[in-house]
Amino acid sequence: MAHLLKVRTFSINCSRNHNLLNTRRYNHSSQPCYDFVIVGGGIVGSASARELALRHPGLKIALIEKENKFAYHQSGNNSGVIHAGIYYKPGSLKAKLCVKGLNLAYKYFDEKGIKYSKCGKLIVASDKMEVPRLLDLYDRGMQNGVKDLKLMDAKEMKELEPYVKGLQGIWSPHTGIVDWGLVTQYYVKDFEKCGGKSYLNFEVKRFFEGENSEYPVVISDNKENTVKAKYVLTCCGLHSDTVAILTGCPEEPKIIPFRGEYLYLLPRKKNLAKANIYPVPDPRFPFLGVHITPRIDGRVILGPNAILAFCKEGYRWRDYNMKELKDILSFSGFQKMAFKYAGFGLKEMSRSIFIPLQVKQIQKYIQEITSADVESGPAGVRAQAMGKDGTLIEDFVFDSKPGSGAIGSRVLHCRNAPSPGATSSLAIAQMIADRIKKEFKL
Ligand SMILES: Cc1cc2nc3c(=O)[nH]c(=O)nc-3n(C[C@H](O)[C@H](O)[C@H](O)COP(=O)(O)OP(=O)(O)OC[C@H]3O[C@@H](n4cnc5c(N)ncnc54)[C@H](O)[C@@H]3O)c2cc1C
Repeated sequence: MAHLLKVRTFSINCSRNHNLLNTRRYNHSSQPCYDFVIVGGGIVGSASARELALRHPGLKIALIEKENKFAYHQSGNNSGVIHAGIYYKPGSLKAKLCVKGLNLAYKYFDEKGIKYSKCGKLIVASDKMEVPRLLDLYDRGMQNGVKDLKLMDAKEMKELEPYVKGLQGIWSPHTGIVDWGLVTQYYVKDFEKCGGKSYLNFEVKRFFEGENSEYPVVISDNKENTVKAKYVLTCCGLHSDTVAILTGCPEEPKIIPFRGEYLYLLPRKKNLAKANIYPVPDPRFPFLGVHITPRIDGRVILGPNAILAFCKEGYRWRDYNMKELKDILSFSGFQKMAFKYAGFGLKEMSRSIFIPLQVKQIQKYIQEITSADVESGPAGVRAQAMGKDGTLIEDFVFDSKPGSGAIGSRVLHCRNAPSPGATSSLAIAQMIADRIKKEFKL
């Protein structure tokens, strides 16, 4: 069980400067000490904590999460798809981790008895312009080693999915669905079984150097919660930039929050699609486009769109935080991107407000779905890493700041764990554990 921190650990008059470069030393022997602390209890942090605990049974490891449950943000609010690895640039880390992650995930679900469905995915080219892009995708998938991909003509697609209309498609039989939030809980359970300690309701706001040379990194929420560590990994999703800055890392890559809203298909129409039905994605964006996805709970969702959220945890239009919004709007990278894709952004916003416009996108594939067949559904907020020049960063980014005292060389930040991070989570965790072994000589 996650430990809800209540211990009062220090009360001396700490400096208001949250930066680690303020290396005032404190000595509080009552604070728990760990060999390794992972900050961020999403699927990436939890999978990494699990992997480290399995590999290093002798180490004392803790996992810290700011919310009152794990997988509260991206990991618990996504499409729930187990991606096969079709879209990603051949040879890229993303492609390799997705293909490996899918295999590890299915094996893990079988071992644990986690409910999933290998319902497959049909990517549909609905007009002639999309056909060459679809064929490119097929080549990519083949190069990435995605198993049993099949190109289909309109007739074959109809046999598989009678309501789908399109010119040509790719059938991916190993794509599946699962509840990634639940999977995260399983990772945490494994971690705890190996002796790991997890903390909820602990928002890390400060790292500083303590007096204990064996456990020099002090991690605090600036209130009563403090732990000490030899080494730290942060996997903070939407807040990964803010948390990296706490140890003196640069502002970039900046995290820009994009909300993805879903519609629910009413139960009376849920039999219109058995598999995941996806469009051919627009290559300019890392978003896969509005799709039809059966969920493991039996409902069918349509979406997500991609609109700027007015704060990092902006799940609804009315959620905003002036400080965070100002920060986004004044970022030169965001301004460049907004200027370049203003038309796309405005269209996405209008589709968010006028549901029939969003339904129209779906009708390209299944005409029988009308505005009367849908209702508002959940939303997720995606952590989109962005460079100063407005580039949408699609790769993994790690950061540390060697040179700034004991802390700089002991903290590793995972600043970007791009989608499909949930599918790839077990493979990402292995990669992170390898990196930690090398970097921290564990
Ligand atoms: C709309 C949407 C649809 C998606 N669909 C899919 C899909 O179908 N399949 C797939 O494989 N992937 C999908 N993804 C991608 C996938 O969900 C993410 O890649 C993955 O969840 C990222 O996990 P994470 O642990 O890095 O981030 P998160 O899940 O966001 O976890 C970060 C955690 O850090 C915590 N935290 C932040 N700051 C602090 C702090 N200061 N102190 C303590 N804790 C802190 C947060 O509370 C949070 O729990 C989707 C993403 C979105 C947004």
